[in-house]
Amino acid sequence: MKVICPTCKSEKQLSRVTLGRSKREEGYYRYYDEEGNEHCHFGKRTQTYQCSNGHTGIITTVAYCNNKGCPKYVENNKRNIIDM
Ligand SMILES: [Zn+2]
Ligand SMILES: [Zn+2]
Repeated sequence: MKVICPTCKSEKQLSRVTLGRSKREEGYYRYYDEEGNEHCHFGKRTQTYQCSNGHTGIITTVAYCNNKGCPKYVENNKRNIIDM
């Protein structure tokens, strides 16, 4: 998953992003379906961040499953919603 500071991106600056406190709003559970395929269902999570240029915001990771055949599957690059 990629995490880029949206403020720096729009100003065409480079920065490093460090993550702060995280909070998972729903549980996590893992099971194997009727065909033996693994499902890891992750709940929605919010996490603070700060970039090396001093911008801060919140990253929301949506609830998702890691199994492509599952209706709850979300593509890797669509799991993070980054707010300033
Ligand atoms: Zn930034
Ligand atoms: Zn699933």
